[in-house]
Amino acid sequence: VIRYPGIVASPGIATGRVFLYRKTAVRIARKCVTDSATEVERYRNCVKEADDSLSTLMEQMEVDGVEEQVEIFEIQREFLTDPSYGEAIAERIAETGLVAEAAVEDVSKELAEEFSAIDDEYFAGRSADILDLGKLLIGILTGTKSEGLSNLPGPSVVVADDLAPSDTAGIDRDKVLALCTRAGSATSHTAILARSFGIPALVGLGPIAIEPGTEVVVDAVGGALVVEPSPEELATFTRAEAKFQDRKEFLLRSAKEPAVTTDGHRVGIWANVGSVADARQALELGAEGSGLVRTEFLFLNRKTLPSEEEQYEVYRQIAEVFGKRPAIIRTLDVGGDKKLPSVDMPPEENPFLGRRAIRLALSDPERLLYPQIRAILRAGYGRALRMMFPMISSIEEIREAREAVEHCKEELSREGLDFDAEMPVGIMIEIPSAAIIADRLAHHVDFFSIGTNDLVQYTIAVDRTNDTVAHLADTLHPAVVSLIQRVIEGAHAAGKECGMCGEMAGDPSAIPLLLALGLDDFSMAPGSVPFAKDQIRRLSKGDLEQLKRIAVTATSREEIKKETGRFATGLLG
Ligand code: PEP
Ligand code: MG
Repeated sequence: VIRYPGIVASPGIATGRVFLYRKTAVRIARKCVTDSATEVERYRNCVKEADDSLSTLMEQMEVDGVEEQVEIFEIQREFLTDPSYGEAIAERIAETGLVAEAAVEDVSKELAEEFSAIDDEYFAGRSADILDLGKLLIGILTGTKSEGLSNLPGPSVVVADDLAPSDTAGIDRDKVLALCTRAGSATSHTAILARSFGIPALVGLGPIAIEPGTEVVVDAVGGALVVEPSPEELATFTRAEAKFQDRKEFLLRSAKEPAVTTDGHRVGIWANVGSVADARQALELGAEGSGLVRTEFLFLNRKTLPSEEEQYEVYRQIAEVFGKRPAIIRTLDVGGDKKLPSVDMPPEENPFLGRRAIRLALSDPERLLYPQIRAILRAGYGRALRMMFPMISSIEEIREAREAVEHCKEELSREGLDFDAEMPVGIMIEIPSAAIIADRLAHHVDFFSIGTNDLVQYTIAVDRTNDTVAHLADTLHPAVVSLIQRVIEGAHAAGKECGMCGEMAGDPSAIPLLLALGLDDFSMAPGSVPFAKDQIRRLSKGDLEQLKRIAVTATSREEIKKETGRFATGLLG
């Protein structure tokens, strides 16, 4: 028996035989043409065909109800005419005289690399989408389109290097028991598809060797691909599979009910989203709002900034998905490891300590801040949007940001445009300086949201992109826990709400402690919502008093972990 550890991209357990999916590699001729104008023309025709083929796929997916995939194809269609991709290819052909397929290959690789250099799962996913789009174009140019997974022989566990929308288009969901990929992240296409199909998936399995037809167990609860299990093991997994299914169905039935502890304390369970499709999925899974709408996706993959209108349209759609439930739109958070091609961002020695997020926005409000604030205020008219500023470190930044909001409101009134004049404005608490004076800052904002991903990085001095120090980054470090306590108490003393949108909020081993500390709203990955609600419904806030006492006086993480461990719930209940 071999066990390969992997990342759980969609929870569940499945047993079956392996269908090994290999993409047929297309060899392309890298040569130059004498008449590049004709070559550009040939490329433009290919773009038209790709666009038609993507819209056909979108229609298919709409019929199948796979909304997120529809969105991915839509993104791909947009790239076909985007200056950073489709147009860049045409320019490349004109400038270099390369054959179209070689130009497609080069530009796809370059842009995909740019995306995957960004330490963000969302962009890792977009990187795969670009490579996939390149394959589609090359397939059309060379007359070698692949059949993908539309012809599965029977119910199988699909194992592949990575799966892209074109591989899975037309896939028969009744024949897929589980998806396993060597590459990929929790937001890769494979993960998104598996979650919308409700089938187990493991990604990031690494360079595993496996033969077609091998019997395997996909343990997307424990996070392992088990090859050739013994009969006893198989029996154990089959029982676990049935248990997981029962539990999931059970949890989904109550996912839209509130999260109330056994002693009657209610908290908000919200989701973090980065697109309209995410918002829809979150609502389906029982999210009571969005504690973090990341807006970076609108800005990063392009050479020009999105207009106010374009932003308005997306924020409005997200607000409409959530209806009366609140959705917190966070203003642009780039810098650090995320660069904007449309803004001059000179290299910095320590970019995470540099011109990032609100600092960058305040350095050029006319271009970066006002259009976004105006779009959020307008999209919030008659809807439940809130606005939030990232990376706040001092009262001065709050004042400046609020002045920008006032400036935009005055402009909008003068222009006679509708907007939400009463929109709540909050800040992320993700820098220790803000956490330490949270009690004072609380008087100047409407709410707090704790960003533990950065709070951990800045408190413990561990670069969140540096694997060699990753073991030091721990949300249950006593210093982090004490800061969280401080922030929540500071908010409450001023009569304000305190939420959390860092990864910690959805972590079953941290939820009991956060509940004990009095956190009001927990915002997490959409898939975690039903599980978090279930966990909270089994806890009594009163029983957590001792956990709180120990956690806020502990010296080591081990002491805290030992206590919280007693209240954690596994995926199997
Ligand atoms: C955080 O820092 O915890 C957070 C939610 O923001 P991001 O991960 O986008 O920096
Ligand atoms: Mg952050």
